[in-house]
Amino acid sequence: MRINVSQLLRSPIGTMRNYGVSEVVSIAGGDSMVEGKVRLVRTDRGILARARLYTEVEVTCSRCLSLFNYPLALNIEEEYFPIIDIVNDNSLSLPEESGCFTIDEQHILDLTEAIRQYALLAIPMKPLCREDCAGLCPICGHNLNQGPCGCLPQEVDPRWSKLGKLVTERKGAE
Ligand SMILES: [Zn+2]
Ligand SMILES: [Zn+2]
Repeated sequence: MRINVSQLLRSPIGTMRNYGVSEVVSIAGGDSMVEGKVRLVRTDRGILARARLYTEVEVTCSRCLSLFNYPLALNIEEEYFPIIDIVNDNSLSLPEESGCFTIDEQHILDLTEAIRQYALLAIPMKPLCREDCAGLCPICGHNLNQGPCGCLPQEVDPRWSKLGKLVTERKGAE
């Protein structure tokens, strides 16, 4: 999502521009369609981008390992700083904050990296294809969401279950 902001950079502080977003962005190894709206506002130092975007990313269920589409709503709010002065072409010093977003020499504000970063943060660490995902059979690996597999329920030796409890308790104490 690349927007030429040369007009906006020449405008007074507080000037606003609205854009519709409809763009394919590469997120987490797959291409995702990103849609929504972005508002750009001229600030004293650069341009503030506020975006409300929707997309879906393909993730792997942490329980049954199947791939599914996870919907994401992104609320992006980032200030972009020009690296050169639009009026006199002098290079500008960027704020101390590391990793701030910039507007390049061609006065292009590129939202792609912000979209990617916000999306990666919004993906849960352990996604579930559905809240009550039944997972995989521990014996044969069958996806139990597709019905039972015919394996007998595992019988746990009571001595092992006691040991398992001890291990869990020790882990909790660490
Ligand atoms: Zn699942
Ligand atoms: Zn099984």
